[in-house]
Amino acid sequence: MVKTLLVGGLGRSRDALLCAALRGAGVAVRQLPAPSDAGLRRARAFGNHGQCSPAHYAVGAVLEAAEASGLSGDTFARTHRWVTAGSCGPCRLAAFPLEWAKVLGAQGLSGLELELIDQRAFLAAFEARALGRSPGRVVLAALVAGDVFSALERALRPWVADEASLEAALDRGLVEVATALERGASVVAPLRTLGVRARAIPGDAARVVPRVLLVGEPWSTLAEGDPCDDVVRRLEAAGAEVEVPRVVEWLQTQAWQRSVEPSCEAVERAVCHRAIRGLAALWRLLASAAGVFEPLEAPAALAARATPFYPPSIRGGSAHLEVARALGAMERRAVHLVLSVKPFGCLPSSALSDGVLAPLLRRTPGAPAFAVLEANATGQATVDSRLELALERATLAAVEEFEHAFTASGLTLAEARSMLSPWPHGLEGPRRYACSAAERLARATAVSGEDRTR
Ligand code: SF4
Repeated sequence: MVKTLLVGGLGRSRDALLCAALRGAGVAVRQLPAPSDAGLRRARAFGNHGQCSPAHYAVGAVLEAAEASGLSGDTFARTHRWVTAGSCGPCRLAAFPLEWAKVLGAQGLSGLELELIDQRAFLAAFEARALGRSPGRVVLAALVAGDVFSALERALRPWVADEASLEAALDRGLVEVATALERGASVVAPLRTLGVRARAIPGDAARVVPRVLLVGEPWSTLAEGDPCDDVVRRLEAAGAEVEVPRVVEWLQTQAWQRSVEPSCEAVERAVCHRAIRGLAALWRLLASAAGVFEPLEAPAALAARATPFYPPSIRGGSAHLEVARALGAMERRAVHLVLSVKPFGCLPSSALSDGVLAPLLRRTPGAPAFAVLEANATGQATVDSRLELALERATLAAVEEFEHAFTASGLTLAEARSMLSPWPHGLEGPRRYACSAAERLARATAVSGEDRTR
């Protein structure tokens, strides 16, 4: 009997596009509901209460899917197969399958087949030199296109006048990109259409907002929604621009980590390097189609930056990536606040945030502020007040930067507004100001100044 695959846990857009790509490859698939606090509580009630929360969020979504199917537990378990990338370990809590078996058994789903995907299995798609449309590459295109949706949303939401219009454009784009994937067609054209449509939404690109870098354990930062206390939405609602981790970075890191392991021989190392380059090219192609110009840093460069403070050979959670991204943002003056989100019970992320990043940023003059949030489905008012507190200093810094850039420009407010392009098009390279409006103004006046002197 052909079983329906249960797929989810990578964020709204990535889940939908991944399912579409699998359908296009002829696979019967059911998209799991977004991991929720209700699912977490239900799973935790039947599991080990000290287990880190990603394990319970993941299996909680399966419990909710089984209930929503209307099938008996036995029938659901017999007709479905849960495909998952497992934990973000290795760490002492990463034995997710044991925990899942306990919870599923207690809920009458003990027969549900579990398929753990090797997180480096995607490397097989790069074994052949020639670019082709193999199922593996289509799946990668779906995941990277999901990253593009997230990046486009982050690039526009703080400035749009009407959020509902942005939501509608993203929803429509998601359907169009998913349809292309199901048909086995390129996703470039629908992403281009999405970008044009989204940037046509009226907004105020001169709005002064603080800039926040989100780091943390990968499962929480990529799954979006409840597993990270919906922190991105909350930050944006509080008036912040947020830079978030991407799946493509995680995949590149997997390839790089394999390439430096002593057991990796020359042929396989070449495949890893090809994968790193191929993923970077895929990101550039799809992101630029949608009008997103966010650079992707090479994993070797990230590892080199983190090495003096956190050896990349230590694995678990986001490993050295949190440190590398925070230091990179500090060097580029790219953010006012680094926010580390960790799930309940995550030892690697706790040790990293509390033990390495906090003192590192505190002792560096001019470093961004640093805050930590443990996401555990607890008081939402507490989360809001912690974020407001963390954003206060960041907001003041953004306002101060804009005032500085505006004064230096010698323009009137109306002239300054007209100089800012209608939408941010990405601000690559080192910045003078973390505030995007201030930086765009500084770059625009520098360019027009150069023009005048020619
Ligand atoms: S890294 Fe953290 S969240 Fe991931 S399995 Fe380990 S303890 Fe759990």
